Amino acid sequence: MKIGFIGLGNMGAPMAANLAAAGHDVSGYDVASTTAQGVTVASDIATAVDGAEVVITMLPNGAILRDVADSALPRMTAGSLLIDCSTVDVESARDTASQADAAGVLFVDAPVSGGIGGAAAGTLTFMAGGSDSAFEKAAPLFDIMGQKAVHCGDAGAGQAAKICNNMILGVTMIATCEAFAMADKLGLDRQKMFDVVSTSSGYSWSMNAYCPAPGVGPQSPADNDYTPGFASELMVKDLGLSQQAAEGADADTPMGALALALYKQFVENEDGLGKDFSAMLPRFEARSRDT
Ligand code: NAD
Repeated sequence: MKIGFIGLGNMGAPMAANLAAAGHDVSGYDVASTTAQGVTVASDIATAVDGAEVVITMLPNGAILRDVADSALPRMTAGSLLIDCSTVDVESARDTASQADAAGVLFVDAPVSGGIGGAAAGTLTFMAGGSDSAFEKAAPLFDIMGQKAVHCGDAGAGQAAKICNNMILGVTMIATCEAFAMADKLGLDRQKMFDVVSTSSGYSWSMNAYCPAPGVGPQSPADNDYTPGFASELMVKDLGLSQQAAEGADADTPMGALALALYKQFVENEDGLGKDFSAMLPRFEARSRDT
């Protein structure tokens, strides 16, 4: 299949390389002139898109997605498919879907979970929104780039699932970190804390699979000096999108709002920039009730 791939960054490059390794003819474009193994480098969006049966985008935000879609969609043939794998606001996903529809192009919003490791290993999870026919056409490509794809509903449903998931993730990571820091002050051994909580009602992915305490639980960024992993600034982005969506939908999300405020403070005013989002634990460790 001829595939145009736009946005060969940390995630896009390995995803495009996996499609090429599976035998697809992939033409890739990135403003930063990045490349990916096995992918033909295109000099602009038009060259990447022309003649493609499927175009995949993996871009930083909704504004850039809209720009790229403006250039790409008029060149795409009727019946071809645009898959946006970026994490963007629900409105940008839905507007791009309408624009694609008007051009006779199928559209799926398909943000991912699994990070850079999952992109390289081809083990991402895709959360997809779009028509049945669009999802069916995209599914074989999801199988190459990932291990699971859930068809969540109509256009925008993939982005909705992603930001709800990451709102839970941000909130539970903060709760897990503040509890560890409190346990320290109560004289509770971290390993004992893990042994109890990971098998009790406080368990979560943050505790059990991505424990923020170094040397405790499975291997995680905490064991590598909090090198991301999933950077705190990306958590700020996703929590910002969840609050934007909550405002648009009139949803009451006080915990999500507080998680956004804390991660923003961590990234903008403390030393959180460039650190894994589980580095909230040393942050809480260094604080008292008054700081
Ligand atoms: P990245 O910044 O490494 O890659 C984005 C790429 O898009 C860059 O190479 C940039 O040059 C390119 N780009 C920007 N504007 C462009 C344009 N107009 N035309 C062509 N290329 C353009 O980011 P990433 O880590 O690869 O993340 C991509 C998306 O995936 C984001 O939406 C992010 O939120 C999401 N995501 C990232 C992770 C992660 O762990 N990195 C995990 C899940 C989801």
